[in-house]
Amino acid sequence: MTTTRTKQLHGKVLLHGTLSCRSGLRIGGSDGELAIGGLDATVIRDPLTRQPYIPGSSLKGKLRSLLERFFDKEFNHNGGTPNNPIWRHECADPACPVCRLFGASSPSRERGDNLPARVLVSDCFLTEESEKELAGIEGGMPYTEWKTENGLDRITCAANPRQIERVPAGAVFAFSLVYAVGDLTTVKEDLLHLLTLLRLLEDDALGGGGSRGNGRVGVTLTAAEVRTRGFYLGTEPAKALPLAAEGSLAGGENARTLSEEAARYLATAVATKTTKAAQ
Ligand SMILES: [Zn+2]
Repeated sequence: MTTTRTKQLHGKVLLHGTLSCRSGLRIGGSDGELAIGGLDATVIRDPLTRQPYIPGSSLKGKLRSLLERFFDKEFNHNGGTPNNPIWRHECADPACPVCRLFGASSPSRERGDNLPARVLVSDCFLTEESEKELAGIEGGMPYTEWKTENGLDRITCAANPRQIERVPAGAVFAFSLVYAVGDLTTVKEDLLHLLTLLRLLEDDALGGGGSRGNGRVGVTLTAAEVRTRGFYLGTEPAKALPLAAEGSLAGGENARTLSEEAARYLATAVATKTTKAAQ
């Protein structure tokens, strides 16, 4: 028996914005390469520019884990190894808000029932302005600061200081999320979840050492637009979505308005296309 499977693409929704560090940010790189500098823990850097950046995988992983907790999903999948397990949630249910957005591999490879991720998260690089500002930092490493953290032996009271490299507070990274529209009935809910996650991220932490004050970020949405199939065919312009007043957060009331507007616009565009095709 053959099963026909289609995954139509109706368009894309793009969300652009900035992540502003309100505290030092630590996303670890390879510690081996910089051992001479004497730092125990270094940040990840772009190999060409040497600038620190936030890998898309780190941001995506953080957003996914926030959504898993938001919906109280069971951590049923080991993405690591038996000796070094990394538990997370994964299922093949298209109604699952987490796996629908962020993807899930098929439990049985032959069945082909994996859910491809609907959202792409790009690597986040320093904005031009922030790059100039950080270039002037005094210290051993370009664009970053060193922070000394102290472990205290509870019995001998001996201190065990170690130096941690962080991106300093005030640094600003640009982010972009691209949502692929495959199912018109879930656009509104998916976008609302994405925007809610960006808002939640502000009250959580990105990268390492969150409980010790690292990784606080402010999220600002600077542009949101819908690109229909017509946009890619050159017959329609992109549709800009309404944003809240400058500087305000991504979540809340504005998130609902934006999600509804995107869903309405896409539904109309697809209905128009269907009507035209029938004529
Ligand atoms: Zn799931």
